[in-house]
Amino acid sequence: HAMNRPAIVLVHQRVSLPWIFDAADRAGIGVVLVPRPDEALPGELPGAVTEVLRLDLSDPAAALERLRSRHRERPFDGIATLYDPAVPFVAEAAEALGLPGIGASAARAAQDKRLMRERFAAAGMNVPRFARLDGPDAAPDPTAPDLTELRFPVVVKPAHGFSSIGVVRVDAPEDLPAAVEAVRAVCRAKIPGAVDLVVEEYLDGPEYAVESLAYRGRVEVLTIGYKGQPKGPYFEETVYRAPAPLPSGAAAAIEREVAAAHAALGIAEGPAHTELRLQGDRPYLLELGARVGGSGVSHCIAYGATGADLAADALRIAVGREPEAPECRKPAAGAAANYIVPCGGAGRIRAVRGLERVRALPETDHVVQMLHPGDVVKPYPDFSGYPAFVISTHPDTAAAERYHRLLDDLISVEYEVEDEAEYKV
Ligand code: ADP
Ligand code: CA
Ligand code: CA
Ligand code: CA
Repeated sequence: HAMNRPAIVLVHQRVSLPWIFDAADRAGIGVVLVPRPDEALPGELPGAVTEVLRLDLSDPAAALERLRSRHRERPFDGIATLYDPAVPFVAEAAEALGLPGIGASAARAAQDKRLMRERFAAAGMNVPRFARLDGPDAAPDPTAPDLTELRFPVVVKPAHGFSSIGVVRVDAPEDLPAAVEAVRAVCRAKIPGAVDLVVEEYLDGPEYAVESLAYRGRVEVLTIGYKGQPKGPYFEETVYRAPAPLPSGAAAAIEREVAAAHAALGIAEGPAHTELRLQGDRPYLLELGARVGGSGVSHCIAYGATGADLAADALRIAVGREPEAPECRKPAAGAAANYIVPCGGAGRIRAVRGLERVRALPETDHVVQMLHPGDVVKPYPDFSGYPAFVISTHPDTAAAERYHRLLDDLISVEYEVEDEAEYKV
């Protein structure tokens, strides 16, 4: 019943990505939506949304005050986000309002790649050698001890980055200063306030993502999925297929490392999306995000592969309720996948072809188109987003792989010819 339904503040979720709203319905939770400033809301909002509350997170103190006064009128039961840059604000707001949360300190460490690396290293986890470049002017001094110790290639990236924005591989020390300048330029344009960088050794192995759910300090790894083996210099997302085939012993090692990461950051509760690369059968974590990953895609992956209702459980935990017991889970399809349609070039899009045929395939669950005819894709290292996601379920991962090869053939992005020279990659 609407009157005694718990209310959760959901910060900066795009309503075009529906899974978390559907999950709120399943969990019987009403959503107070804090919309993204860059999304025009449609006339009809998802059914779970009971209220729209505008907050300007670029002024966190004012945003918190606004939340506090609304909370005094009618108390919320929880606050959550799937948007990585908002994780620290949400944790601070939860602390300030006395709502369940992971704590501001854990949230800051999960959102700052320097703190995360330092905490992982202190906990004895596998960590690539790294150096921090703090502040807008820190020049990479190749003779500084932490930098001379790095073996090239290295990766330069913003400490507070997301979506691989400004992440670049650098092969030789003499190229480092120019790369740092280029990353700073991307940050100025795309990640306001991001001035701190990390330089770390490049891990040359296959990439995996882990969906997990923690409750009262116990971490349950739901799925480990294959993320391809992008080699750079820029790191576009490509595929996600779960469960991943893994070398023997690797799954157990990954589960241990993910649990160790939770302990190192102090995260006892809620969902996490962890990315890692394997060196042999040894996992090296790239980062842990204290949220349902991929704006909700991670829910589809975990649900398709295991039957676990990750998104609904994340919301339940955020309002102080128990997650669903594992024995109550629905039978799963077996495998789930996300295909990220590659830009395949740059310029003004004339057409994104093949999506209708893909929608009609029986394995296809969702096609989410994000770029449309008329939109401009700028060449890397700039980032304009991806044309579309295709989310699917399969009896096993081999079937997902065959389906992805079919999508390679069916989908293409066509650009206006006159722009070709201007945007040549
Ligand atoms: P973001 O927060 O922008 O997602 P990540 O650290 O996850 O930043 O980096 C984005 C992608 O860049 C990773 O998914 C991975 O493919 C690649 N990458 C980042 N760091 C490394 C590294 N040290 N070695 C190899 N690849 C890396
Ligand atoms: Ca990442
Ligand atoms: Ca991140
Ligand atoms: Ca990624």
